[in-house]
Amino acid sequence: MQLFDVYPLYPVTPVRALGAKLWDETGAEYLDLYGGHAVISIGHTHPHYVARLKAQLEQIAFYSNSVRIPIQEELAKKLGELSGYEDYNLFLCNSGAEANENALKVASFVTGRDKILAFKGSFHGRTSGAVALTDNPKIVAPFNASHKVAFVGYNLEEIEQHLAQGDVAAIIFEPIQGVGGIIMPEDAFWRGMADLAAKHGALLIADEVQAGYGRSGKFFAHQHAGIRPQLISIAKGMGNGFPIGGLLVAPEIKATHGMLGTTFGGNHLACAAAMAVLEVIEQEKLIDNAAQLGEQTMAALRQNPKIKTVRGRGLMIGLVFDAPIKALRDQLLFEHRIFIGTASAPNVLRLLPPLNTEMSDLQVFINALI
Ligand code: PLP
Repeated sequence: MQLFDVYPLYPVTPVRALGAKLWDETGAEYLDLYGGHAVISIGHTHPHYVARLKAQLEQIAFYSNSVRIPIQEELAKKLGELSGYEDYNLFLCNSGAEANENALKVASFVTGRDKILAFKGSFHGRTSGAVALTDNPKIVAPFNASHKVAFVGYNLEEIEQHLAQGDVAAIIFEPIQGVGGIIMPEDAFWRGMADLAAKHGALLIADEVQAGYGRSGKFFAHQHAGIRPQLISIAKGMGNGFPIGGLLVAPEIKATHGMLGTTFGGNHLACAAAMAVLEVIEQEKLIDNAAQLGEQTMAALRQNPKIKTVRGRGLMIGLVFDAPIKALRDQLLFEHRIFIGTASAPNVLRLLPPLNTEMSDLQVFINALI
């Protein structure tokens, strides 16, 4: 059997990693400023992470959600403390798309409505329900999930026209569009949207799968705007490479048995990985670090006349060029040995390094672009 060839591959085979560094089978060193789509939050093979996973593996790796799993409760408590959502409840699953699928279900159960508003250019995952929330024709199959989705721009009037029809269950939004190319409206827009949703009885689903977990310089990127979504989806940086996702649910939304479910979600190993991530974020003050490094890096990049626009928050940075960046991306990887991300916009580079990257490593990238 061979692998189903759906991913174009770089001709690089990392075999070892530490912090923001990767090494291939010849021993050549690479700088990882992308973290496999924003997954590596606390750095590759962080010693605390490795030790916690090993210890858990020696005790118990998995049992189904039909028994009490105390590490799930520990994780919910710690996540509540660090994120400022202590009164929310946590549903655990395995990926970002799954977290969003569950958010749609909850919103639909709670409101009894079946229409969703999503933003043009957004990305929420590849499962059929999640992919129905993207307007990118390259990744949408002819079959669409049953949710009715309307795509809107960052325009409050347009949003209110939909909401006023009274059938919108939720507005799902990325506080900072990741795949779309690090795009975000003013904070005031989010506040206006939250007021409109409350007025018309629609819920807010913040998709924090990419922007969350400290990356933007606050635990959640929507917290810059001071809004309070009823549903918050998380994944990527949550497990630093171990597959785990979750949905934070506001206390006014009551759970019923059977409302949601999963086989693997919240398994012991995934929770140990997620606990290690939160412990390191807290001990190493990585959210403040992301804010500071992000400001320094963006200020330096803004001095580079080759870059048209530098945008983002914390360590979620988009560099906009006048022309497509494919050749530049290849040059960075093959000449400078720096991993960097692209976006669906062909002229945008995405920088999503671990939150404990050293400024000296970011400086290597800044110099490479001059
Ligand atoms: N939501 C956002 C904002 C994402 O960036 C992604 C992945 O890139 C997803 C959801 C889907 O996450 P996953 O690939 O874990 O299903």
